[in-house]
Amino acid sequence: MYVDTHLHLDEPWLTDSEKRQRVIEDIAANKILTFAQSCDLASYEKTVEWAGQSKYVIPSFGILPWYADQYMDRLDEVAKLCETAIMLGEIGLDLASSRNEATKEEQLALLDVFVKASKTHDMILNLHFRGGIEPEGFEVLKRSGVKRAIFHWYSGTLELMDEINEAGFYYSIGQTNLSRRRPEQREEITQMIRKIPDDRLLLEIDVLPRDADALPSIIFPRILEDVAEIKGMSVVDVEALNQKNVRELIGDSPRVSEISDLLKPS
Ligand SMILES: [Zn+2]
Repeated sequence: MYVDTHLHLDEPWLTDSEKRQRVIEDIAANKILTFAQSCDLASYEKTVEWAGQSKYVIPSFGILPWYADQYMDRLDEVAKLCETAIMLGEIGLDLASSRNEATKEEQLALLDVFVKASKTHDMILNLHFRGGIEPEGFEVLKRSGVKRAIFHWYSGTLELMDEINEAGFYYSIGQTNLSRRRPEQREEITQMIRKIPDDRLLLEIDVLPRDADALPSIIFPRILEDVAEIKGMSVVDVEALNQKNVRELIGDSPRVSEISDLLKPS
């Protein structure tokens, strides 16, 4: 069974509403359990609405760090929405993005609301840490005592991974596009993926390629092949491993009991 722990159904990554509809139908027809990320309040509302079309689309509530400045006087409202969400993300810290308008302090204040909710309600957190701030993001998580945290497309150093692995957090890996990378980048990505403990590896599509035929049921098997090659495993084993790890990530988290029912043992 395919389980995609991080997908965007909305703008700015998926703007074509016709394609979005095909994507949702593809997810439903192929029973691809999908954690649909949101980027702000409006995006979350839409994602919840789209999730109504298939039980395989699970809406996740998040606000990207770039927009943190817009929410400084609305943190109570954000905290309230966390109370009713099934899972949290995409959230995090990012000082390197060209989209960035928020300061680090604003990003930390926003992240704090989500981390507290995750701790209180034992919820899954889908995390975006970029631009050298990975160690600080990790410290926030470690201090808070959250358990179900996912480093979405990890971009920090291999050294920091020792500590993250020790803490037992998860990593989600997606389209590596290795053939299009520079050799040193290819090497970095390969080493990073190999350093992820087998029981902490999750898979994600994140952003679908733009062409009309790039549906989850087409892209996900390519990710399986890629990761299988890097890890020296079979495609079948990687698929089963991802499924098993998602089941463990969910564990007895109270908000996601319905998802567990969808994850039949392979
Ligand atoms: Zn994302």
